[in-house]
Amino acid sequence: MPQSGTSLVWFRRDLRSFDHAALHHALSQSRRVFCVFIFDRAIIEPLPKKDRRIAFIHASLIALDAELRALGGSLIVLHANAETAIPALAETLKADAVFTNRDYEPQAIARDAAVAVALTAQGRTLRTFKDQVVFEKDEILTQSGTPFSVFTPYKNAWLKKLHLDSDVACLRSYDIESFRDRFAAPRNETGNAGIPTLPELGFEEVDPNGVPVPTGTHGAQILLDDFAERLHHYDRTRDFPAVKGPSYLSVHLRFGTISIRALARHALDAMRAGTGGNGAAVWLSELIWRDFYFMILAHHPQVVGHAFKPDYDAIKWERGTHAERLFQAWCDGRTGYPLVDAAMAQINQTGYMHNRLRMVTASFLIKDLGIDWRWGERYFAEKLNDFDLAANNGGWQWAASSGCDAQPYFRIFNPVTQSEKFDPEGKFIRRYLPQLAKLDAKEIHAPWQLPATKLEATGISLGKNYPEPIVVHEEARSRTLQRYAVVRKVTK
Ligand code: FAD
Repeated sequence: MPQSGTSLVWFRRDLRSFDHAALHHALSQSRRVFCVFIFDRAIIEPLPKKDRRIAFIHASLIALDAELRALGGSLIVLHANAETAIPALAETLKADAVFTNRDYEPQAIARDAAVAVALTAQGRTLRTFKDQVVFEKDEILTQSGTPFSVFTPYKNAWLKKLHLDSDVACLRSYDIESFRDRFAAPRNETGNAGIPTLPELGFEEVDPNGVPVPTGTHGAQILLDDFAERLHHYDRTRDFPAVKGPSYLSVHLRFGTISIRALARHALDAMRAGTGGNGAAVWLSELIWRDFYFMILAHHPQVVGHAFKPDYDAIKWERGTHAERLFQAWCDGRTGYPLVDAAMAQINQTGYMHNRLRMVTASFLIKDLGIDWRWGERYFAEKLNDFDLAANNGGWQWAASSGCDAQPYFRIFNPVTQSEKFDPEGKFIRRYLPQLAKLDAKEIHAPWQLPATKLEATGISLGKNYPEPIVVHEEARSRTLQRYAVVRKVTK
């Protein structure tokens, strides 16, 4: 039975009209349900004026509005400050409650708390739901009731919780269809003037080719259908950036154009049917990493800006113009290490970077160039289509060895052997560094080691059309071991 007359569902990073926790609860408990998305000025104003993510969201909102209209409702889209706009809209619509899915980022938690206070003052409520993760914050704890800080036991506990429930109810899809008659018909008094254009939002139009992933829920489904064919050998292909191995679904998970429950179910069904090979189990494990980092952020919000292991904040990073010059060369893909440079070209040109390369480039910045991991974290945050505070911080702190369950500080990737191992034919490097295309599979990983005659014959002029290496890896390695000496005693 509906408990509330009118409700408002506030969409944020969950841009779909199906299997949506907050929408389901609002519909099942209300007579009429309005839907809103806010381009929050507090979030979007600091962004670069040409931003692929805003273009992705924009295209996905057009699709969401169409989906909601097909169900009898519509999407109100505002360009405003969410903290004040949500209570104001709730007042205009005379909504008894605002329903939304929980967000675990510190700024979002503060914003939602402010919205809750404003709504309470009006006699309304903010109701929040788990939707973004399979298991949140306190659902997976150690036997002594504390949060995990090591992944494998967390994963085992996560899987145990899943399997304890034979129907796997936690992965069940939230019903929306049965409540179609509860959607409020589109109306004008909401101040909704349709979906603002990118220029109206203060952004440049992005060439559709500049958003290299299909958008909206339809785009997510295309990627999932494509990946389903490859899932069984994900474990064998996922580390090779030249191969179509991973799902490329991260941006869809980021903006909720696909449901995490549907993806976990997909992996589990393939495992149970015996069709997923080892690939399905390994992929499910990656989805569990995602929950893990959300859990870490929720319990330890201080990881934003600080090392998870506090002693690592004592490390002295390179500073000054020398550091800035090294950092800029890394950002621009001008380090002279082909795999690193090709990876940086990938993120700069497409907004995506393969997971293996995120590890290689992060390790290179921190442990070859001696640059503070927070600089790299910030750069990825600006560039990645799938930027997610929890996973990005987790990934950077893993590479810096300062995170929970991070790689040990003395494990330092060799950028040349990583290249030989994970791009053995040099195919990925050639795709992004055409000036090296004529080098063969053995030569392409370290062009500075080639004789001048060879370089000349293949059209390469070091320092002119391809940089000399900006550091000598072996020297950088020793510097890093010294730099990390401040934490050596703690880690042992
Ligand atoms: P798939 O291999 O198909 O994996 C499926 C999904 O599992 C991903 O979409 C993602 O949601 C999740 N996942 C996979 N690996 C991880 C991981 N290590 N940690 C958390 N979740 C994971 N991922 C982000 O979503 N946003 C980020 O901002 C981000 N920054 C990173 C920074 C660094 C330095 C590193 C090392 C990793 C980062 N990752 C981040 C994790 C990972 O690289 C990406 O999730 C993955 O490359 C996305 O591609 P995919 O969807 O094809 O992944």
